[in-house]
Amino acid sequence: MVVRRVVQLTSLGLFLTLLSLAAAASAPDWAVDLFQRMDPSLAALTMLASQKWIWALWPAAVVLASGLLFGRAFCGYVCPMGTTIDGADKIIGRGKTKPAQWLRGMGWLVLAFLGGAALAGVSLVFLAAPLSLITRLYGLVALPAAELLGGAAVDIVRPVADDLGLNWLAFWQINAPRFDTVWFVAGVFAAIFALARLAPRFWCRYLCPSGAMLALFAAKPLIRRRVSDQCTGCGKCRRACPMGAIEQNPLLTNHRDCLLCRTCASVCPENAISFLPGPIALPTKAPAFSPIRRQLLLSGVGGASTAVLAYGGLQLPRAASDKTALPTPMLLRPPGALPEHDLLKLCVRCGLCMSACPTNTLQPIWFEAGLTAAFSPTITPRLAPCDPRCTACGQSCPTGAIRPLTLGERVWAKTGTAVVDRQRCLAWNQHKKCVVCDEVCPYDAISLVQQPGIPVSVPLVDADKCGGCGFCEKFCPVRNKAAIVVNPLGELRLDHGSYAQNGVMRGLNLHLVPPGGQSHGHVSPTNGPAPGFTD
Ligand code: SF4
Repeated sequence: MVVRRVVQLTSLGLFLTLLSLAAAASAPDWAVDLFQRMDPSLAALTMLASQKWIWALWPAAVVLASGLLFGRAFCGYVCPMGTTIDGADKIIGRGKTKPAQWLRGMGWLVLAFLGGAALAGVSLVFLAAPLSLITRLYGLVALPAAELLGGAAVDIVRPVADDLGLNWLAFWQINAPRFDTVWFVAGVFAAIFALARLAPRFWCRYLCPSGAMLALFAAKPLIRRRVSDQCTGCGKCRRACPMGAIEQNPLLTNHRDCLLCRTCASVCPENAISFLPGPIALPTKAPAFSPIRRQLLLSGVGGASTAVLAYGGLQLPRAASDKTALPTPMLLRPPGALPEHDLLKLCVRCGLCMSACPTNTLQPIWFEAGLTAAFSPTITPRLAPCDPRCTACGQSCPTGAIRPLTLGERVWAKTGTAVVDRQRCLAWNQHKKCVVCDEVCPYDAISLVQQPGIPVSVPLVDADKCGGCGFCEKFCPVRNKAAIVVNPLGELRLDHGSYAQNGVMRGLNLHLVPPGGQSHGHVSPTNGPAPGFTD
């Protein structure tokens, strides 16, 4: 038991460390998304939906193969979702109600439902894949909350640190990222944790599709529970088993449910239980749960029907016929995002890209683009710009929904085009002097020009030079909605090939200028300073 706790905490610690390093953009590329790539249902259903073989997801195959040797030890020792639920179970405690027998095997039905949707070409894996769910919990809710609390604590001790001359502490700033959907994610997990009142590890036991997949390989693992003839049949082990894997006759084990947690061995007064490989002294095979075919079929059909309704676009009929159409005209995708059709099949909504985003511009969307796009990442320039010198989102994406780009390619991964709203622009509409968008544009895509009848220079965007980074929208001094807004028109999204070469072929002219290196060639010297600036 102690060994298991140590392994569990080490694994959870590694998972959180990699998540934090992703946020600090300092995790090694091969490791940043390692845990997400270990999730069997995430891997299988993503490949099924996209009909692509994704080599990067090989760790999931290793996990599945481990079922032959160690049964569901991955769930009991390594999975951060399982460890988190174990912790929640301890806090919440067990209720008196016993879960109904029919719940057994629900994981298969969840898997069949998601599989049906995937076969119909829609990935709903984000609804139940454990590593997608748990990454969202820690990446979008728990770690930002911890940073928020850390920032508040630093603010409290800052004056004392200042007095003591501890400059590192006095000037320490912790900027906690904030994400949309955080309360929704927290609510989902509150419900998952509350299920502990019905049974320990309720999620792992009854609902987890990855657990169900691993169980397929765990019918008779090499290392499994074995009971010697010292057993008196007292049944203590059966009552203590958190997974309900021991049958009425304590000699019999349902290995598909057993996590190798050794709880049974720790409570056995006769020391009759071992988990070593070797010959079997007594029968250990219980009749394994066999899901009713009709239920599986109905679940699969349910998933496929949901997919057809969602994808056929009850709310977005045009998306079904035009595969390149954007679900909503204003949705800006991260640089390197695959064409929309492929992005939605490959994105598992783990939120790693959002956690890794240094400016916090990447946010999960709600249902404005339908169920198929829910919780997928979008750039929100008014909140923060998308730095064209940053490749963090693509480097952290476990499935390749966002392509990993070199810095040179990143510059050419145009995410949209800035458009000036002349009704709101201070220069165009109120004839006030303003140079902010021109000043902050790293592509030097904005020119200030003289127009007949307007006494000040007004901004014009060169669409071929605009990378869609959103610096202009972020810093536009007009309140509420900016007077210059990036929309996805003209975005460059490729599933293969070079962004730079494609950009050149399309006539784009995307080059970064060093800060302060903007041309300002058209600014009239008589314009004077921008609002809020003095000579
Ligand atoms: S695009 Fe973002 S949310 Fe989607 S799979 Fe990649 S990292 Fe996860």
